[in-house]
Amino acid sequence: MSLDTASLREADRRFVWHPFTQMRSWCAESQVVIAAGEGCELIDTDGKRYLDGVSSLWANLHGHRHPRLDAAVADQAGKISHGTMLGLANVPATELAERLVGLAPGRLQKVFYAGDGACAVEIAVKMAFEYWSLRGETGRDLFLKLDEAYHGDTIGAVSVGGIDLFHRIFGPLLFPTIAAPTPNAYRRPHDLTPEGYEELATAAMESAVAEHARRLAAVVIEPRIQAAAGMLTHPPGYLRRVREACDRHDVLLIVDEVATGFGRTGPMFSCEAEGVEPDLMTLGKGLTGGYLTLSAVLASDGVYDAFLGEPDEGRTFYHGHTYTGNPLAAAVALANLDVFEEESVLGGLAPKVEAMRRGLAERVAPHPHAGDVRQLGMMAGIELVADRASKDPFPVSRQVGNRICARAVEHGVIMRPLGDILVLMPPLATSIEQIERLVEVTGVCIDEELG
Ligand SMILES: *Cc1c(COP(=O)(O)O)cnc(C)c1O
Repeated sequence: MSLDTASLREADRRFVWHPFTQMRSWCAESQVVIAAGEGCELIDTDGKRYLDGVSSLWANLHGHRHPRLDAAVADQAGKISHGTMLGLANVPATELAERLVGLAPGRLQKVFYAGDGACAVEIAVKMAFEYWSLRGETGRDLFLKLDEAYHGDTIGAVSVGGIDLFHRIFGPLLFPTIAAPTPNAYRRPHDLTPEGYEELATAAMESAVAEHARRLAAVVIEPRIQAAAGMLTHPPGYLRRVREACDRHDVLLIVDEVATGFGRTGPMFSCEAEGVEPDLMTLGKGLTGGYLTLSAVLASDGVYDAFLGEPDEGRTFYHGHTYTGNPLAAAVALANLDVFEEESVLGGLAPKVEAMRRGLAERVAPHPHAGDVRQLGMMAGIELVADRASKDPFPVSRQVGNRICARAVEHGVIMRPLGDILVLMPPLATSIEQIERLVEVTGVCIDEELG
């Protein structure tokens, strides 16, 4: 098959509006057009191969064109591709719910499906609000979030987000929330030690929960690492302290595992690492191994039971989507879970995580413009700064992150920065050799751009 790259590029410029993209810059550049994938590589219309350094936006786990996942799509398409869950059950969505409940923390017993991560967050927020209303506590209209939180781009998800650059513009449309400081010490005030700052941030979260307890429906949190904020890791024990604060003050805990779920941080779900059981947990991105759009909210029996009643009592959860529980997506999600078992994916992660850690420590961290290198499991962020001592950023106009990622493309690696923070989040299936290459190319591109 020969593809005309130039005419595809031209058609893309003319007809497509890309997400999170300044289209004027996009149209001024020569873009890579992906035609295929194989394992942890992407292949463009000219046949050039690239390492998929960001798992096709944090979604792919076992590589592209995995035979098991490909077969699941084909098999299910041979039966039925979509059927509504309003008034009907379907085979894969039912089987998947049972499997997810078996894997998730014990408290979570029910599965509600949606299509994207943001929708899952939206649903969790609405569930938490309605839960309290049904219990007669109609004043529970606030959510506690962290500064620089990211939970997706629908209005409810943006309301519980805190990334100024993306969210400020929509301010007038958002519902009010309470924000607690991000417990990552890199950008702490000068007069505090890292430990001192972490303790202060934790105490601030605890007192915010205590102060607003009567009005808080839930605390919403990305567990142990805030990915979109630039891979901001939290100190060990922080999530545990959030759970304890919620328990003390009778507030629900929504843990957003859309980015961290499915082994990205080591365990299947990040909250497991601290023995934390949320009341509501959101899943997305890796749920289908990065194949199809599917997300889910897992709910505790405590939450679910509050919605039970007679038809005329109005206790129904009034929410749904046309593609809720899509069978094709659910079938590939089941195959995704099979691959975790059949290939002992979690058991094989430790040496890969170590290879990334060692590579970053030796090849990247020593660079004078590497301000901070953060990693949790297979998720890493490299924060580049103009001055290491003052932590002053580069001027935005220099586009350091974008320029380094453009260089990486030349070297056959696809990366995407968050501002001047380089993100490495390769598929779990990435080999140790590929991880070493990913880190080496990152180091080379930093050297080329910043000397
Ligand atoms: C990506 C992300 C979302 C949004 O998921 P979409 O599928 O892009 O809507 C929500 N929460 C977290 C933590 C994410 O990283």
